[in-house]
Parts: sequence; structure tokens; C-alpha cells
Amino acid sequence: MKALTAHMPRVRLGHAPTPLEPMRRLGEWLGGPRLYVKRDDCTGLATGGNKARKLEFLLGDALAQGATVLVTVGALQSNHVRQTAAAAARLGLACVALLEDKVDIASAAYQHGGNVMLDALLGARVLRYPRGTDMAAQLAAFCDELRGQGQRPYAVPMGGSSAIGNLGYVECARELAQQARDMGVPLTHIVLATGSGGTHAGLQAGMLALGLPVQVMGINIMGEVGAQAAMVWRQVQATLAQLDVVRPFDAADLRLMDGYVGDGYGLSTAAGMAAIRSVARLEAVLLDPVYTGKAMGGLIDLARRGHWSAEDHVVFLHTGGQAGLFAYADQMAAVASEGLQMKP
Ligand SMILES: *Cc1c(COP(=O)(O)O)cnc(C)c1O
Repeated sequence: MKALTAHMPRVRLGHAPTPLEPMRRLGEWLGGPRLYVKRDDCTGLATGGNKARKLEFLLGDALAQGATVLVTVGALQSNHVRQTAAAAARLGLACVALLEDKVDIASAAYQHGGNVMLDALLGARVLRYPRGTDMAAQLAAFCDELRGQGQRPYAVPMGGSSAIGNLGYVECARELAQQARDMGVPLTHIVLATGSGGTHAGLQAGMLALGLPVQVMGINIMGEVGAQAAMVWRQVQATLAQLDVVRPFDAADLRLMDGYVGDGYGLSTAAGMAAIRSVARLEAVLLDPVYTGKAMGGLIDLARRGHWSAEDHVVFLHTGGQAGLFAYADQMAAVASEGLQMKP
């Protein structure tokens, strides 16, 4: 299968290919469809996750521009910020993390553990902002300030989602299609968590560019679904343009499922927590409360409601978040011990 991104500057940062594994026990428990997991929680870069693939292209661009310091934004427990700090450390660049107190959780684990602890450990300079701050504006202003001091900043967009960052998931589409072919898996569907949208858009653009009829389904984990869908669709177009590939893709063909966000971004849901527990006990795979738990909660709900047939081959893209899981220790405690030694 041809490399679609060979012409783009890239720095190897992650472990690839990540494994594609069957989830037999979860599939049996649900009574179909055939389930697999693409282990992008195993990409490396300080506990793994989907941002590693995006950062390979973003940092290729940063180095081509002679950057000396990475500046990025995210929520306090952002996995993206942690992997950006890790990438900076690997390449010997400085890193500034602008973190928004976006989620109303006061526990010590959330405020100081998980990703925010790792950001500091990896050497990032962490600056915190109150909820509601215009973080894109802060990012631009901070980069201007650094430039004024004679430094060469590179602004890494929120979630690493941009026409360049999304190329990481164009590459993942190619890698996954090749793996499925090698394993004799007739891949029909991919399910993943959709946040800033670049992972979803990159996979969709990649499948379109490869001409493969695989349905990419996002589970919305933040924001109003109409606006989110429009945002992801625009990113599909921008990513195709970046690839110099022309493919028709209707806004109506974008699959983004709603109903699994709960009270908002970063706030756990009962269905998400139950999904984390079930998948831990059935597959020994660790999900997180913000993204992959809610996405798996959606997959389980859709499977139970007969959304797929027993012949469908559904791949769950595990986008990581394991460091974030530990920030939710207080919320996890009750859930984790429930129903011990019984059926999931
Ligand atoms: C960032 C993130 C996502 C969402 O990816 P986007 O490209 O921002 O939509 C999903 N899961 C985890 C664990 C993440 O950190």
C-alpha cells in the first residue's frame, strides 16, 4: 500500500505499527459483532496515545522551521500536552504548556496527578489559566512574546489537530488496512472517541484516499454535536487538500454519534465508567474516563441495540489516556470494586 505522506517532513517518535488484537471476550459478552482493538495506547511517548502520531508530522514541520520551543494548549489533564512535552524532551526542545482549568474536579489526584504531574516531570513549563479563557488567543500571544525575546516558538494546535497533524492518522489508516489484510480481517467499521477531531478526520481522509469502503464512526465526547460534526468535516477536507487528493465526501457521510458526553467534557458518566470496568475485566485493556471509556460505552450501547450485524468486523481505536485514568482515582474507587469476582 502506497505511503500517502512520504513527501511530508516527519520525525519518528512513536512505536509503530501498534498491535491490532481481537477482543474475543468482549465480543462474546456482547453477542456480536466481531470486535478488535487497535492499540494506539501503545504508541510510546510517555505512556502512549493518539497524539504521538500527530506529533511526528507537527514536529517534522517545527524542525523544518527551526523551532527551539514548543508552545501548546489543553485542559489540565490533557494527554496531548503530556505527549507534546515528551516529544520536546526527546528532541531537546523547550516546551511551554498553557493549561485551562476546564473541568470542575477539586481532588488532589485531578489537580496534581496524572498528566499534569508528567508535564512537569518531562520538563515542560506549566502555566495555568481559569476556565473560559480563550486559549487559542493565549497561544498566539505567548508565541508573539517569545518571538519578541528572540526565541523561535512553534505553536502546536489544541489536540494536535490540523491539516498537518492529521496526517498521522492518514498513516494510521494505511497501517491498519495493511494489518487487517495481513490478518485476514475484513475490516468494515472503526469506532473512536472524537474530541478536537483530527484523529477522526485523518482516518476518514486516509480511508477515502486509499479508496477503502471502511466506515469511520466517531463518538462525540465534547461540545454540541452539530458544530462538532461540521468541524470534523472541514478537517477532512483540509486533510485531503494537504494530501493533494480529490475525493467527494458529503457532510451527510460523516458519522458522529451523540448521547455519550454526559454532563460535559472531562466529567465521567455511569456508562463510561461501567465500560472501563467491563473492558478491564474482559480484556485487561485500560480505558480512561474522558475519551476512550465514553467511546467504548457508546460502542457497547450500539452493539446491544443491534447497530451492527454479527458479520461486521468492528475495530475500536484505543486512543490512549491511561495517564489520565490516574487523575480520576477518587471517581474510580467505587466503580472499580463493584461486582468484584462476578460477571462484568
Ligand atoms: C486527544 C484524545 C482523543 C481525541 O482525539 P482528537 O483527535 O482530539 O479528536 C481521544 N482519546 C484520547 C485518550 C485523547 O487523548
